[in-house]
Amino acid sequence: MNFATEFGPFVRADGVWSQIMCPVDRGQRPRPALFLDRDGVINEDVGYLHHTEEVRLVPGAAEAIAGANRLGFPVVVVTNQGGIGLGYFGWAEFAAVQDRLLELLAAKGAHVDGVFASPYHPRATGPYAHPSHPSRKPNPGMLLAAADWLAIDLGRSWIVGDHARDIESAKKAGLAGGMHVLSGHGGEDGQRESALAFADDGFRVVTGTSIVGALRVLPLYRA
Ligand SMILES: [Mg+2]
Repeated sequence: MNFATEFGPFVRADGVWSQIMCPVDRGQRPRPALFLDRDGVINEDVGYLHHTEEVRLVPGAAEAIAGANRLGFPVVVVTNQGGIGLGYFGWAEFAAVQDRLLELLAAKGAHVDGVFASPYHPRATGPYAHPSHPSRKPNPGMLLAAADWLAIDLGRSWIVGDHARDIESAKKAGLAGGMHVLSGHGGEDGQRESALAFADDGFRVVTGTSIVGALRVLPLYRA
């Protein structure tokens, strides 16, 4: 596959998929963003999703993203795709799934401004083997890269995730807060408790049933 276009989709030298759909002047005044985990938040988590026919939106996700679009928040997908490192599928399958997902969102008037995906996994054996790659959540690498590319004020930004590690990555990146949702893996043992444990004076953690609830908190951080 050829990823050599100016703003992507492309895979950077560090192996991270970094796709900017809505390029901005990187020197402009930073604005708050809505970061989204993908599997289990935007689309149903079927486990290492890589078939386009298995892409199904979480109910209300497109409407919530369209709402964030209307409020003027850049929406950035940050997704661990360890299945690539583990050899279950490749970037071509990831790209096809992304195309389908964005098509489903577009049909409901929603768009995302950027997509970042980390192929690393601690149990991978090939080029994407890494015990704790800086781009793989709970590490904040993808969020920090997005902030640079898309002129994002991390301190006024939020994430929505179904895993505690999504919330942890947000805290490490210096976000204002995170919403833990019960879609995807969110209802599994310990996820919610672990997510809530990241809350402190400088970082809010709120809970919701799904991404639909994100529109409750975003207006408070409007630019
Ligand atoms: Mg997830």
